[in-house]
Amino acid sequence: MENISFEDLCLDEATLKAVEKKGFETPSPIQILAIPRLLNGDANLIAKARTGTGKTAAFGLPLVQKIREDKGFTQALILTPTRELCLQVCKEIQSFSSDNFPRMAAVYGGQSMGEQIRALKKGVEIVVGTPGRVKDHIERGTLKLENISYFILDEADEMLDMGFIEDIEEIFGHANPESRVLLFSATMPPQILKIASEFMGEYEIIEEEKRPEEPLLTEQRYWVVRENEKIEALVRLIDISPDFYGLVFTQTKVDADSVCKQLDEKGYEVAALHGDIPQNQREKILYRFRNKKTRILVATDVAARGIDIEGLTHVVNYALPFDVPTYVHRIGRTGRAGAKGLAFTFVRPEERRKLEFIKQAAFKSTKGKLTEEQIPSVNEVLKIKEKKLFEQMQNQLSLLNEDLSDESENQKSKENSTFEKMAQILCEERNPMEVLSEVLALSYGKSLDPSRYGEITPLKVFNQGRQIRLYVQLGRKDGYSPKDIANYFSKLLKIPQRMVDRIDLSEKFVLVSLPYQAGMDLLARAKKDKSLPSMHIDSKESQAIYKSEKERSRRGRFEDSSRRSGRKSGDSYKDGRKSKREKSEGKKKSGFTGKRESGSKPIHTSKTSNASLYKK
Ligand code: AMP
Repeated sequence: MENISFEDLCLDEATLKAVEKKGFETPSPIQILAIPRLLNGDANLIAKARTGTGKTAAFGLPLVQKIREDKGFTQALILTPTRELCLQVCKEIQSFSSDNFPRMAAVYGGQSMGEQIRALKKGVEIVVGTPGRVKDHIERGTLKLENISYFILDEADEMLDMGFIEDIEEIFGHANPESRVLLFSATMPPQILKIASEFMGEYEIIEEEKRPEEPLLTEQRYWVVRENEKIEALVRLIDISPDFYGLVFTQTKVDADSVCKQLDEKGYEVAALHGDIPQNQREKILYRFRNKKTRILVATDVAARGIDIEGLTHVVNYALPFDVPTYVHRIGRTGRAGAKGLAFTFVRPEERRKLEFIKQAAFKSTKGKLTEEQIPSVNEVLKIKEKKLFEQMQNQLSLLNEDLSDESENQKSKENSTFEKMAQILCEERNPMEVLSEVLALSYGKSLDPSRYGEITPLKVFNQGRQIRLYVQLGRKDGYSPKDIANYFSKLLKIPQRMVDRIDLSEKFVLVSLPYQAGMDLLARAKKDKSLPSMHIDSKESQAIYKSEKERSRRGRFEDSSRRSGRKSGDSYKDGRKSKREKSEGKKKSGFTGKRESGSKPIHTSKTSNASLYKK
């Protein structure tokens, strides 16, 4: 398949020119399969292809090649599930046409009927529309499908998901029964095949060969952050990214609005997109985002469906998605077409277990690892911003000096004389460097002011074997509040209250995280001392930590004794023989082993946890 070119696909000269104009070099797999079939023969087709595979050109190029004549009626109908896809498809096919032919119209809900009727009345060869609106036009008699030659369903599975099945059936009823039916769908649920058997007669299914698991080019990272500090984390993420251009996913419309509002208040160009945004506004928002006038779009999954935007640098999961397919779908919005993208997921501390599940499943389907990163401190953010700002300034200054065209030279000298006069006055009695740094502080001070940033209090690192989570039979019914619980364990274990972490109090019991050793001592005590409440280790997470701590301690004992016997710490048991050899060599090179030993750190150190700042 690799060596097939557009010339091999039966495209004529005019269409090849259009392909060249678009800058397409080689046909995509779905194009290789679909284009020759559509240009030759008359079979109905079902093509399994996702957005981003070049599917629009796969049917669009044959359409513009086949439709070269004004016959006085509509010749092709393309149904799409969303307005966004409708406009996108329309635009893409228009970009293949020359001299504004074939003429196209996009008809979708939310836009005035009048405008669409006027467009249809002028006469169009190809109509792209959403099912509801297409049906409206048929009913009003403003769209006639009796003579169409092509009936195309794009993203058919999405249309079914959105409940368009009845509309589609009705539209089929009005369409030329002889028309050729093409159905594009990313998935093949049984309803698709039902439509096919009802309306398509004989058909051929084409599907690009599955490539051997291609890893997604998206780097996946996550930050553990409390809910109320997520906005601060997002601000820092945006600020450290050189050219942030991203989609921020929230779980609800309310969250989308709230995140958008908070970013807006902090001075970012941002927009929200969700189901409650009126259609005309949606289009404006998407237009601005596509043209990078707004570089941050906060959206819900439903609203972002069908939006295909190139070149995103970031996808942010402001909230952990409910399921793995949603996660994979979201992060696939970046890291496309050979470009690297970054996907950041904000995970609340209590969501770590759910995250583990997503991590494993996401690895299976993306072959990429989701790795934890620390949220940068304000100082780190400022350093990065400072560097960025300075580089920009230097670039602009050097560009300014390079620009030697006559016109700009004149303009520049005019400006220069104005600014030079100002500079002269400012520097008359003062050191020019001082003056310049004050001017810079005036221009950029705000952006580099640490007080722009809020606080993110560090979290206890829970997954490093330093804490143990216990189930303890002490609950609200015993008169305890979370504060009392912190107090109780603090007194009992003689540890500061802040080390009593992640208190989940219910009626009959409490789940609590304690420093590992203190927790283990307490368990041992509780076994003997019947005045203490009943307790045990909670959760798989803690069980795993318990096991790994036990293993560490076993190894530690072993390594301690092996250090005593002169073995390098960290050597595994397997290397014992080598170490014996070293030992005998060591006799010759005496001193070498001793030096190592004194420098080696003991592996098993008993650690108490750091400050725990996460309290309920
Ligand atoms: P689609 O799957 O139709 O949404 O197309 C995704 C993007 O790929 C669009 O921006 C197309 O312009 C572009 N595209 C389609 N075919 C090719 C090709 N053969 N080579 C490069 N880009 C393409």
